[in-house]
Amino acid sequence: MNYGINIWGANNFFIENGVLKINYANQPALIDIIKEIEEKGFQGPILLRFPHLIRKQINSLYNSFKKAIKLFEYKGKFKAVFPLKVNQFPTFIKPLIKIADKYNYGLEAGSKAELILAMTYNNKKAPITINGFKDKDMIRLAFIAGFMGYDVTVTIEGLNELHSIIEVSKEYNSFPVNIGIRIRLHTSGVGIWAKSGGIASKFGLSSTEIIEAIEIMKKENILNKLKMIHFHIGSQINDISPLKKAIRESGNIYADIRKMGAENLIAIDIGGGLAIEYSQWEEKRDRNYSIEEFSNDVVYLLKEISNKKQVPMPDIFIESGRFIASPSTVLVAPVIELFSKEYNEKSLKLKKKNPDLVEELFDLYKTINENNYIEFFHDALDHFESLLTLFDLGYIDLIDRSNTEILVHLIIKKAINFASYRGFKNKDLKAINEKFQEKYLANFSIFQSLPDFWGLGQRFPVIPLTKLNISPNRSATIWDITCDSDGEIPFNKKYPLYLHDINLQKEDYYLGFFLVGAYQEILGMKHNLFSFTNEAIVNFDNDGNWEIEFLEPTQKIRDILIDLDYDIDEVERELKNKIENSLLDEENKKEILGELFLLLNDMVYLKN
Ligand SMILES: *Cc1c(COP(=O)(O)O)cnc(C)c1O
Repeated sequence: MNYGINIWGANNFFIENGVLKINYANQPALIDIIKEIEEKGFQGPILLRFPHLIRKQINSLYNSFKKAIKLFEYKGKFKAVFPLKVNQFPTFIKPLIKIADKYNYGLEAGSKAELILAMTYNNKKAPITINGFKDKDMIRLAFIAGFMGYDVTVTIEGLNELHSIIEVSKEYNSFPVNIGIRIRLHTSGVGIWAKSGGIASKFGLSSTEIIEAIEIMKKENILNKLKMIHFHIGSQINDISPLKKAIRESGNIYADIRKMGAENLIAIDIGGGLAIEYSQWEEKRDRNYSIEEFSNDVVYLLKEISNKKQVPMPDIFIESGRFIASPSTVLVAPVIELFSKEYNEKSLKLKKKNPDLVEELFDLYKTINENNYIEFFHDALDHFESLLTLFDLGYIDLIDRSNTEILVHLIIKKAINFASYRGFKNKDLKAINEKFQEKYLANFSIFQSLPDFWGLGQRFPVIPLTKLNISPNRSATIWDITCDSDGEIPFNKKYPLYLHDINLQKEDYYLGFFLVGAYQEILGMKHNLFSFTNEAIVNFDNDGNWEIEFLEPTQKIRDILIDLDYDIDEVERELKNKIENSLLDEENKKEILGELFLLLNDMVYLKN
């Protein structure tokens, strides 16, 4: 049982001696990193950022296009920008910027705030592209970026934006940016994000509007500023064929616009969408192509169209975000409780005289063995139903009911263990497990840390950091610590997750959620006022040893209240008044007040 690491792991992690290790430099175990962070006093969920995995993705993107360009003797260049909307956090962006320099890898901005980030941090020679709906202030910012010396392309989403650019250029009496046109393809978008492409798309100019835009630019004498056309057919493109169609369509549009006199039009920006393999199950792959196939297809098709239409091969621009960001980040959540932990033999309160069915359950529990466990399991479930009915009708009391619950759970545990001896694939075990899941309460919020699971049903690979040399035998449902019944990753019969039976009194157990570097934290919600987790950047020194470069604690209760615009002085005053007017002794008041203020300054997550 390797939790599908060979499918989603991309050789970034491996299992050795029962623990999960990082396949880089001196190959540390994730659990050792977590232990060190906890020793520094950090508890609760921890987000680990690995810059070496950002580098690996950037390198893989540039290399595969470099190879394709060589293979097909392609004449255009390859350029790329990182779309900031995918991850704007400094713990991600600052390492990315360092790595990006060598590649001339730039940034894409879709809002004024993102543009300010790009203007602040982008490497001098790297491109900046600007998409999304723009007001005049955003265009002014783009011009200022141009004045700073950046290579800026403003992609217009509609004709009104072209007019705004012209007006702003007259204000400044200067034109320091390139123009891009987002084209509306008839090829529909793909996946759950289909609205990014297609004729009914939220974005882009239709053919009629493109022609009009060119006429306007001709009239204003700025057609030489038109440098790029752009499309984006959606995120997580799982099938390559719509992309190929979009390339053909945009290649033809590119050639025709050039023939209309746009001689500086020299680039096609193919947007993002490069998919990540999130699956833990062979039967459920998330994409049907490799990065090599992707780059070969793009380069080959653009060469073919350019030759046919006798135009120069365009530079290829790409804005893939998910592909670059996802692998870099791992969320680790400590398991703090197993639902069935209450059910142990010591808690039984058997009476001198018990209801017959309870006596029978006790017998089943004592005599269950490897030959009879399936039959006894079924009997136990039958008795369980009957006893609960008897309770509802008032024939047995709460103590009998408690004994019933304990015995049934103990019998199930024994049955699972007997079934496990015969190998994990045993169909009896499967049957038991499908009927009865263990519930693992993990110290994190799905709403904050995995919002795409909540909103879109996106599954992220989950794997415990330890015990990986032992076959897990409990079918698992993962609960987060919010009070919301949606805060649950339920057991799925078709794509089952099994975890270990553990005694948290004696050992720790951590769940790692992988490939969470794209979109999650920023889409995350402060539901129940659980907000950002602990965060650490893990780097490797020249000797291959890991080090924690940066460590940021979770938000404090106090700070999240301030975030919501509560007047914290008012909160503190009210709390203080309530203690002072309470019936506590004077000296107790002081002590309790001190304690209350310490708690107010503590983290929102649970202590492990
Ligand atoms: C969101 C977005 C991207 C990034 O998409 P990924 O699927 O993360 O690669 C690129 N370009 C545009 C215009 C976008 O809106």
